[in-house]
Amino acid sequence: ENRPVLTAEVEKVAEVAGYLWEKGWAERNGGNITVNVTEYVDDAIRAMPAIAPAAPIGMTLPNLKGCYFFCKGTNKRMRDLARKPMANGSVIRITDDCAHYEIIADEPVKPTSELPSHLAVHNYLIGKGSKYKASLHTHPIELVAMSHCNKYLEKDVATRLLWSMIPETKAFCPRGLGIIPYQLPGSNILAESTIKELADYDVTLWEKHGVFAVEEDIMMAFDQVDVLNKSAQIYICAKNMGFEPDGMSDEQMKEMTVAFNLPK
Ligand code: 13P
Ligand code: ZN
Repeated sequence: ENRPVLTAEVEKVAEVAGYLWEKGWAERNGGNITVNVTEYVDDAIRAMPAIAPAAPIGMTLPNLKGCYFFCKGTNKRMRDLARKPMANGSVIRITDDCAHYEIIADEPVKPTSELPSHLAVHNYLIGKGSKYKASLHTHPIELVAMSHCNKYLEKDVATRLLWSMIPETKAFCPRGLGIIPYQLPGSNILAESTIKELADYDVTLWEKHGVFAVEEDIMMAFDQVDVLNKSAQIYICAKNMGFEPDGMSDEQMKEMTVAFNLPK
């Protein structure tokens, strides 16, 4: 049976998956998306049986009891998710022990290998009463390139540089870009470092790997990464033209921060 589960949120995921592919950020199976869809779950969905045996998350996440998530499947391509979201992703339910998940729809597609990071982040967001429901991991070329240079990995160096490339970057990414030193993909330690950094940032840079972003919905998470990567492209474009870009002056940044009522 092919139930029309949580259609609107899944359609947004499919749209963003297409953008990730077009951007060149989603080679092969690169990147992953999860969305907390618990608020859209009705009794009919709650009654749906598991279609695969419960599997361990690898950690216990107490705030996720009975929650539902749409997850990209592991090894699935964004460009395929764009066309057929329910064949390249699945809806999971967290079991009452908060340490396992079961797949309930539509097909037994195993969730992303970055599930520990995604679910630990959702657990953290629920714990602090956040409105954020979506998390995005992707491989944006220019931001990843910058993460190969130590000077951009120092706290807030990349943030200040990217903000200064174009006024809108600070306006739309007012919390900047957090930095997470290299960790093994899919590891619990990567999940733990990501949560720590999300206390201060909405987008974090996983050194030599990609970014991890959270927002109210998946379109907004994509927008944050898109804005930051656009600034990185402008910076790199200037460097390729043979000069170090001046960036907006401190006065221009200050004026902008006041005018847009942004945090310092
Ligand atoms: P998955 O295919 O398991 O989602 O992994 C992609 C990825 O980018 C891992 O970091
Ligand atoms: Zn990745």
